Amino acid sequence: MSSQSSIPWFDEFIGVAYRYFDLRMNVVPLFSDQKESLNLWRDVIHWWVDPSIKIRFVETGNDYWFIMGADSQKQDTNISMYKLLPKSEHYERFKKGHGGEAYLRFGVYTKLTLENSKKDTLCDCGHEASDHDENDGDACLYNTCDCKKFSSFQVNLLKRKKTITDIKFLDEENVKDDVLAWNCLNINKFSKTESS
Ligand SMILES: [Zn+2]
Ligand SMILES: [Zn+2]
Repeated sequence: MSSQSSIPWFDEFIGVAYRYFDLRMNVVPLFSDQKESLNLWRDVIHWWVDPSIKIRFVETGNDYWFIMGADSQKQDTNISMYKLLPKSEHYERFKKGHGGEAYLRFGVYTKLTLENSKKDTLCDCGHEASDHDENDGDACLYNTCDCKKFSSFQVNLLKRKKTITDIKFLDEENVKDDVLAWNCLNINKFSKTESS
């Protein structure tokens, strides 16, 4: 694994969604631009050797590091991905329910406005788009609701997928025993903390 440390780290994606789809849980790095995500899949992920794909979750307080890497058939253009993210309900559900394997897919994240939503699209306030008033700055019409502006999103899962069978949840204390996670924190956490 001596080559691991020379693989560049990439964190220019929005976050990670966890979804049930095709019976297995899906781990879905999110992008705002579909073309960008398709290019990254074509240039990098497509060449990953499935049994070598690793994802690591390193928890730190209310956040966790998402860390993912693999051996590639095109080692010279390979990258590893990471992102520091807040723990979420979906994350906790994945942690409990993944059963040792998951599908890796990319997703395209789109923010929805009242104009491009369907009537029954749920707003972050929990009420449907049709309950929001276009003539009043998109405010929610429920008397008891203080939502002033309709806000929602959708995630489109791209079709291509890879199977992940190497999934580990770690603490910062035992991260030293894991080459991928240790490398990630070394380069992306400890070095940045020192320089800032
Ligand atoms: Zn609302
Ligand atoms: Zn509302």
